[in-house]
Amino acid sequence: MTVLVLGGAGYIGSHTVYALIEKGEDVVIIDNLETGHIEAVHPKARFYKGDIRDRAFVDSVLDKEKIDAVIHFAANSLVGESMTNPLKYYDNNVNGTKVLLQSMVAHGLNKIVFSSTAATYGEPERVPILETDRTEPTNAYGETKLSMEKMFKWTDRAHGLKYVSLRYFNACGAHVSGQIGEAHKPETHLIPLILQVPLGQREAISIFGNDYPTKDGTCIRDYIHVTDLAQAHILAVDYLMKGNDSNIFNLGNGVGFTVNEVIETARKVTGHPIPAVMAERRAGDPAQLIASSEKAKTILGWKPEHADLEEIIATAWKWHSTHPNGYAK
Ligand code: UDP
Repeated sequence: MTVLVLGGAGYIGSHTVYALIEKGEDVVIIDNLETGHIEAVHPKARFYKGDIRDRAFVDSVLDKEKIDAVIHFAANSLVGESMTNPLKYYDNNVNGTKVLLQSMVAHGLNKIVFSSTAATYGEPERVPILETDRTEPTNAYGETKLSMEKMFKWTDRAHGLKYVSLRYFNACGAHVSGQIGEAHKPETHLIPLILQVPLGQREAISIFGNDYPTKDGTCIRDYIHVTDLAQAHILAVDYLMKGNDSNIFNLGNGVGFTVNEVIETARKVTGHPIPAVMAERRAGDPAQLIASSEKAKTILGWKPEHADLEEIIATAWKWHSTHPNGYAK
């Protein structure tokens, strides 16, 4: 089977490409390298540098390659940036997906697995969150991802394009080999920021708010290992290849950790004291986000294998301690 991975040079995309190749699949990658890294492209994948908003470019790849299924990660994903520059998100995420779907429909390609997010829910009505719960994004990033999900729904209705949308909770960790990992510029995510302290790149980690209605006052999140996310994409492709209908699944461990607990675990893993300082709440942060992933477990047969937070942080530490500047030399 040949799988086209859009955004295969990014964080979750590159881990999914590694997992596909480890499984013996043939992989084609499209990435514009705006936020992805050429060093993260698996040497066995066929790589095309270009932008999904460029119809002629996407057509040329689909003309040339015989693709069975598409996995779509090509999007901007910084919540803060989406609030100051929402139109960038509508252009790349929504318009990019529209162009991609036009090309897929024209080429008779009708299977796509899509990288969605817990940000589609916004402030949750309850935890754990079910796929049927209210979707009311509190930031433009989540809104564009929800728009993309709806574009798939109507394209399915009109053209029979089958999709699986995977709503991730907090992606983290790195490939067990330590060869690829998380490398964002600017970095905004909790675990890589914490690990900058033992790397000597940051004095202390800031805790964004300690007056939330949680057990220690800091926000609770559901941290899910990137390799477990990668496996879910492979299961979702198999699900579509078997002729199943379009569907939406949450991906998380179903267990929440507070910011304090994450910092404490990182102290244990790295053996570094990691000072923490209190800071203001960050706009738009819900107090807690925890997934119910029962649906993915039951229907896709998904089983997270790196659910232990200590193990998750240990894989991240292996990557960051050997690549303190990410992919930059
Ligand atoms: N957070 C924090 N300090 C930081 C970065 C993040 O306290 O320097 C908190 C943030 O408020 C949230 C949690 O850590 O409650 C996870 O944030 P992240 O940006 O990693 O993921 P998000 O939940 O926004 O997807």
